[in-house]
Amino acid sequence: MSDLTRRHFSALLGASFAATASPLFAPRALGQAKPKLVVIGGGPGGGTLARYVAKDSNGAVDVTLIEPQKTFTTCFFSNLYVGGFRTYQSLTHTYDAIGKSGVKLVHEMAAAIDRDKKQVVLAGGQRVPYDRLAVAPGIDLKFDSVPGYSEAAAEMMPHAWKPGAQTELLVKRLNALEDGDTIVMVAPPNPYRCPPGPYERVSMFAHVLKTKGHKKSKIVILDPKPAFSKQAVFMEGWEKHYPGMIEWQDPKVHGGIKSVDPKTGEITTDLGSYKAALANIIPAQMAGKIARDAGLADASGFCPIDPDNMKSKMDANIFIVGDACIPGDMPKSAFAANSQAKVAAMIARADLTGSRAFPARYNNTCWSLIAPDDDVKVGGAYEPGDGNIKQTSTFISKTGEAADIRKQNYKESVDWYNGIVADVFG
Ligand SMILES: Cc1cc2nc3c(=O)[nH]c(=O)nc-3n(C[C@H](O)[C@H](O)[C@H](O)COP(=O)(O)OP(=O)(O)OC[C@H]3O[C@@H](n4cnc5c(N)ncnc54)[C@H](O)[C@@H]3O)c2cc1C
Repeated sequence: MSDLTRRHFSALLGASFAATASPLFAPRALGQAKPKLVVIGGGPGGGTLARYVAKDSNGAVDVTLIEPQKTFTTCFFSNLYVGGFRTYQSLTHTYDAIGKSGVKLVHEMAAAIDRDKKQVVLAGGQRVPYDRLAVAPGIDLKFDSVPGYSEAAAEMMPHAWKPGAQTELLVKRLNALEDGDTIVMVAPPNPYRCPPGPYERVSMFAHVLKTKGHKKSKIVILDPKPAFSKQAVFMEGWEKHYPGMIEWQDPKVHGGIKSVDPKTGEITTDLGSYKAALANIIPAQMAGKIARDAGLADASGFCPIDPDNMKSKMDANIFIVGDACIPGDMPKSAFAANSQAKVAAMIARADLTGSRAFPARYNNTCWSLIAPDDDVKVGGAYEPGDGNIKQTSTFISKTGEAADIRKQNYKESVDWYNGIVADVFG
């Protein structure tokens, strides 16, 4: 922990917790209690890790999951909700199965990590001691990375890059559009969660407009990146299913986003301005606050990890999995978070119970639906190399592929969704 972070933490303790804080669970008396793993964040990263350690250690490790929400709505497949292929309810899962697998659930926010004492401080002031900690808080949005944008502006110009009310607002606004209206998406800069996500979302916008017979409507993507994930197959698919409807502008075309105005819906670039009936602004991203405040992130805003074990490079008692970490060649995805969490679970169990650990191996696939039964994918296998998580093999959908391959991809993606939510929450 840097001096600054230590000082910041001490000040925080002095201000709010020191007088009242008491351990939520009694600290371990040597030789008696079980070793303790505490996990912050119950998404696909933290949820998988907590569940796998509890299950695979047969109760030999005392596992606590700290997560303020009582249910988890997945961002993954939320684009299919936008397109009308899924219900919101089908994306929402409880923590009951994680609890039944032996994990203690604490539905509260973690406010701070006292790395010196190896304790997590809850929002209510109570302390949870750990032998190993896993931090998996996902991302925070850098609202001010887009001039004029803010958390308040997101009520008019949703990002919908975190699940919940934002996704519902986006869908409500989409369904209220009239023929001739313009949708503008401001896409995020790298690195961000779900690299193909913005472009799948645009496909789903277009599918909804097409289904409603909106022939005069346009979708403009203002991208801060010169290229994007699966670009060739997305662009081919847009031309095939939604000819003339979607316009993608790279920075050379728009020259930079100068401002967004939530009151008027106006988005101004160096080249001109757009009046958006629906503006979907997806700002730059960084690791969740708890990880940054604990001094686990570097200047990039994300958390460096050791690729052999998913341990923080700042603190070997702490694992970082999922979107908050710097995953080398892996993208930030639920698939990746689940894969990283399984490596971290194996190592945590080995650290705490002496069980055997095997070399780290990781996998990822990201599917994207362009139109009904036209689904494309990208993925790979990964292992530690050159101090990073390195890609060892890769695959990607090709342009001109047969319709049955794309249909099979869609089926695969649905099977994957059912599989991962059963693995974590089922
Ligand atoms: C539109 C969209 C589409 C996507 N599609 C796909 C897809 O098709 N496939 C795919 O693999 N991925 C997809 N993703 C990406 C995927 O959703 C994320 O990569 C994944 O959710 C990351 O998991 P995580 O566990 O790291 O973080 P999260 O899922 O964000 O979970 C973090 C959890 O930590 C909790 N938390 C945060 N701070 C604290 C704290 N201080 N104390 C306690 N708890 C805390 C939060 O409440 C949250 O429940 C998509 C994302 C988006 C936005």
